[in-house]
Amino acid sequence: MKEKTPLLVVGAGPFGLSLATYLKHKNIEHIQVGYSMDYWKNHMPKDMYLRSACDWHLDAVNEDTIMKYLESQNLKPADVEPLTLDFYLGYAKWFQSQKRLAPRPAWVKTLNRADDSFHAVLDDGSEIEAQKVVLAVGLRYFKNIPEEYKTLFPEDTFHHTAELVDFSMLKDKRVLIVGGRQSAFEWAALIHEQGAKEIHLTYRHDTPAFEPSEWAWVNPILGDMVNQPAWFRNLSQEEKDQVGKRMWAEGRLKLEPWLVKRISKDTITTHPHTHVTQCKDLSSRELQITLSDNATLMIDHVVMATGYKMDITRIPLLANGNLVDQISTKNGFPILDEGFQSSVPNLYFTGFPAAQDFGPFFGFTSAVRTSALVIGSRL
Ligand SMILES: Cc1cc2nc3c(=O)[nH]c(=O)nc-3n(C[C@H](O)[C@H](O)[C@H](O)COP(=O)(O)OP(=O)(O)OC[C@H]3O[C@@H](n4cnc5c(N)ncnc54)[C@H](O)[C@@H]3O)c2cc1C
Repeated sequence: MKEKTPLLVVGAGPFGLSLATYLKHKNIEHIQVGYSMDYWKNHMPKDMYLRSACDWHLDAVNEDTIMKYLESQNLKPADVEPLTLDFYLGYAKWFQSQKRLAPRPAWVKTLNRADDSFHAVLDDGSEIEAQKVVLAVGLRYFKNIPEEYKTLFPEDTFHHTAELVDFSMLKDKRVLIVGGRQSAFEWAALIHEQGAKEIHLTYRHDTPAFEPSEWAWVNPILGDMVNQPAWFRNLSQEEKDQVGKRMWAEGRLKLEPWLVKRISKDTITTHPHTHVTQCKDLSSRELQITLSDNATLMIDHVVMATGYKMDITRIPLLANGNLVDQISTKNGFPILDEGFQSSVPNLYFTGFPAAQDFGPFFGFTSAVRTSALVIGSRL
């Protein structure tokens, strides 16, 4: 049997949960599908620290904030920052129970549009017909492996960071990490702490500075965007680049200072200004790796800390249906109007796919409340 709903929200990460809360607050009928905080639970290492702090909470109506969660436990931000993944997941669980959110735990396999409505097929066999759909599917489909590395390493000898979050298999192993930003260095610390024998990091740029990132400037911009959602798109290209550069400088040119001690180890070696030029698969299942400065390394496993790149055609529920060709894109991102609506009427995107039109903040939880308020008011 096919269920009918005016609105289907796909995704139950920070963006999906924040939006569902606001919809509930405004009594807007909807169905939400997705596993709660699934990406954070299954694709981030359990001992990870967040880069964001207590101010980036999930509640668009500012009631169930992280501060309120802390108060309920008699704690202050200084007691919990930098936030652990466990703490953030604890907050998200508490938030969900405060708001009585119950997303349906399933995957949408296919989304089609016919006769002015959307038809979603779920992996539990059920089907949903919706007048409007919001996709808040996060980062999972956009793992980036640079072209030159796709065929360089034998298939089962390398993993993207999103697929390697349990490091027990790397005990006593020699590991090469490709990448030199926060996740490369944090994975290096965590892999070392799990008993790896040797860790090398190769990256093309300078070693970023170990300095606290400054995000305070982001909140006022996002607050203003609730009433001026076109703010970012109306900037000149030069102004947009400046915003991008500022985000880049805080997020990518800096490493969290709490990493310094953890990576200052004899077993961790950095190779700035290098890239891998050759990989020989020796019969012993060792990799003999040559870097561009001619250093040779013997390695058992490679970790690609090479980030994410937007390409909405890689979202399986779209690729399996009839919508991909109808969605106008630029640089792999959907082109969205001021209310997050794509060129397909009544199909909305939020989170990272919205970053091109709404600003780079949309790749982070800083933007969940703005997204919920703007989309919620349009719906
Ligand atoms: C290592 C790492 C560290 C990070 N640290 C921070 C940080 O400190 N602070 C910060 O703000 N951001 C951080 N980020 C970015 C963070 O991942 C995003 O800010 C946040 O997850 C975006 O939320 P989201 O709801 O868009 O996506 P997600 O959290 O990825 O949630 C996506 C949801 O969509 C669901 N879904 C996907 N496909 C389907 C489908 N077909 N059917 C049904 N459901 C589906 C999933 O089950 C999930 O519920 C980090 C990212 C990484 C990789």
